Amino acid sequence: MPGFRDPMRPDAPLSHAWQVSLGRFALLLAAAGVVGFVLGHVLPVLAAALFGYACWQLLSLYRMQRWLRARRRGPPPEGHGAWSDLAEFIWRKQRAERSRKRRLVALLRAFREAAAALPDGVVVLDRERGVRWFNESAGRLLRLATPRDRGKRVDDFVPLAARKWLVDGPNHEPLIDVPAPHDEAMRLSFRLIHYAGDQTMLVVRDISNLMRLEQVRRDFVANVSHELRTPLTVLHGYLDMLEPDDAPEWAPMLADLRAQSRRMAQIVEDLLTLSRLEAQQEAPDERVAMRPLLASLKRDAEALGQGRQAVALHVDCDLDLRGSNQYLHSAFSNLVSNAVRYTPEGRIDIHWERRGDELRFRVVDTGYGIPAEHLPRITERFYRVSTSRSRAHGGTGLGLSIVKHALALHHARLEIESEVGRGSTFACVFPATAGLPPVGEPAP
Ligand code: ADP
Repeated sequence: MPGFRDPMRPDAPLSHAWQVSLGRFALLLAAAGVVGFVLGHVLPVLAAALFGYACWQLLSLYRMQRWLRARRRGPPPEGHGAWSDLAEFIWRKQRAERSRKRRLVALLRAFREAAAALPDGVVVLDRERGVRWFNESAGRLLRLATPRDRGKRVDDFVPLAARKWLVDGPNHEPLIDVPAPHDEAMRLSFRLIHYAGDQTMLVVRDISNLMRLEQVRRDFVANVSHELRTPLTVLHGYLDMLEPDDAPEWAPMLADLRAQSRRMAQIVEDLLTLSRLEAQQEAPDERVAMRPLLASLKRDAEALGQGRQAVALHVDCDLDLRGSNQYLHSAFSNLVSNAVRYTPEGRIDIHWERRGDELRFRVVDTGYGIPAEHLPRITERFYRVSTSRSRAHGGTGLGLSIVKHALALHHARLEIESEVGRGSTFACVFPATAGLPPVGEPAP
């Protein structure tokens, strides 16, 4: 069609409609010139032709404007040349725009319906952390209603425990096991997701069933360990009463039985320690006197290593720690005994130091080291780099798990660096706020 321009490409080159219009105009002027010449009145005839042309253009402009202003716009008015080309272009572009809009609205509706049907609660927040939109699950879990709670600030409806978590910054870990605002028995988890630059979304999940299962697992492990303790003690007692000299042919078997029953008893004790740690929400607020603790760790290491390693203490910080004597002793002595057990010979350095805002208890050994691929899983229960080596040294595979739990209870973390054949460094990193000046000194 002459004069048609692709509506999806408004920047396409001008069509030849303009050439046609200009051609017609030139033809009109030429015809008027010839008629004027024949009649002997060139100028008046030319002026009349120009006037007629201007009227026709004005009429086209008027029809175009009426069409553009029409509420229910049909196809463009019939026209000639550049005007019809322009109208055609606008019409097609509008139709393309309308169908694009319809598609977008349908897509948006589909997304909203999908988000609304999600079992997890989703709350879309604006820059001031006010509610922009939420789905049905969020309404049910957080007792939100439309339109009442649109624009409400997030701090006004999340449970108290989640408020502090919300101000802690954008890159924090999800918050788990928070009681729902209306029902203490319902446990929720919260996750803050940042997207598209400055947009934020709060995802809330009902984890009551998960927490119940977790509790069942914890109770089961604690009960089994508890039940095993008594029979093991009896077994252990009888084995201790037997003398290898009474039946020399049974001596190797008796030694093996004793070693295995000791290992079992140690596993049960470690499992019970882990259960107790898991059951705690906060560490007891005791003074953990570091100097005597460090000295006893050194003595234990020397006794366990029987002189195979040179053990040294480096105390660059005179602060004590605030927390549980029992759990911190257990965590530190696990690290020290690991260093001894996995360093056949060499050095073991125990450091207590302050670095900036942190207090560090560090155990550095020159032992076997740990291959890098094992490091991410090393603190899992029963995870060992080499099961035979761990067993040969009386390991239970639970030591580092105990360390991790004990530190978490004290808001501290475990950092591990290791190189095979060169040794390992295990550091317990505490916030400086966990430090206590030694007795008799004023608080810093
Ligand atoms: P285990 O009772 O087997 O020592 P842990 O949880 O204490 O259990 O440690 C898990 C595993 O981590 C060990 O089996 C061992 O392979 C590795 N490991 C821990 N500490 C060290 C260390 N200081 N040097 C080398 N390997 C270590």
